[in-house]
Amino acid sequence: MPIEIRTASTLSEAAGVLAGDRGSRLLSGGTLLMREVNEGRLTEGLILRVTDPAYRQISLSGARAELGGGVTMAAVLKRRELACLHAPARAIGGPAVRTMATVGGNLFAETPYGDFTVALLALDAQVMVMQGYGAPRAVPLEEFLAARARGSQGLVVAVQVNLPQNPGDFRFRKVSRVKPKGMAVLSIAALLPTSGGRVTGARIALGAMGPTPMRAKAAERAVEGKALDTATIAAARAAAAEGTRPATDAIASEWYRREVLPVHLARLLSGQE
Ligand SMILES: Cc1cc2nc3c(=O)[nH]c(=O)nc-3n(C[C@H](O)[C@H](O)[C@H](O)COP(=O)(O)OP(=O)(O)OC[C@H]3O[C@@H](n4cnc5c(N)ncnc54)[C@H](O)[C@@H]3O)c2cc1C
Repeated sequence: MPIEIRTASTLSEAAGVLAGDRGSRLLSGGTLLMREVNEGRLTEGLILRVTDPAYRQISLSGARAELGGGVTMAAVLKRRELACLHAPARAIGGPAVRTMATVGGNLFAETPYGDFTVALLALDAQVMVMQGYGAPRAVPLEEFLAARARGSQGLVVAVQVNLPQNPGDFRFRKVSRVKPKGMAVLSIAALLPTSGGRVTGARIALGAMGPTPMRAKAAERAVEGKALDTATIAAARAAAAEGTRPATDAIASEWYRREVLPVHLARLLSGQE
């Protein structure tokens, strides 16, 4: 059976089609999906496009942002209000890739990809998922990623995120061997709000350190309630690799990723470029 391409004009129609055909795939920006087709790894089944304008919409309400699943990295970079997401958006490929690569597609990108998702995980994003024709359901990104690892999917219609009130509270760092657009050795995003000089509500997320972007919970515990001084940073550094399961690939070995993670986490926490 050859590949069939179909177009849905609404998100609801797209979700219904995807739910009704387990072999179907949504075409978002296509930077990964079309690679599968071009390389002969995907040879049959339904590929579904969605033309609903809501899929590509960015909505802002106070500190709350909703990014449609089809919002591209280039579109994120055009919005000044999304400045805290500019570093992760700019970390995705080169300019040509960023005009196609979408927020929704990045949630499904396999390691070592998924740099934008790392930032969303640190920001405690909610994923709006439609399974069939029902209303979208808000799923915490961490839960969504765990379900993705088990193979379950739905249509991601949007991602909702609270933008940090103080831009300095959010930090992102991608480590790659080829600059500026190489694949990640690892990436780190951290939300570090402070109250009275102490970190309250730390969230630290890692990319390329496991099968999906993950939280660095031991490092979060090491900084929580503390001033970000030398002793705290040393404790976070010591805890950085706890629970990680990096892969060995063409970019870096598992050993190397574990070795350099603490160094880069310490640099990020101490505010070094
Ligand atoms: C040269 C190159 C460089 C790259 N560099 C990076 C990089 O540095 N960092 C990085 O993170 N990624 C990188 N990527 C990978 C990719 O471009 C991004 O991860 C991108 O965000 C994927 O989005 P997409 O819209 O192109 O996904 P697509 O290819 O359209 O889709 C990918 C998968 O996700 C599924 N999917 C997509 N959207 C949805 C949705 N809304 N609901 C349900 N399923 C969905 C598709 O069915 C498919 O299985 C690179 C790719 C290329 C080709």
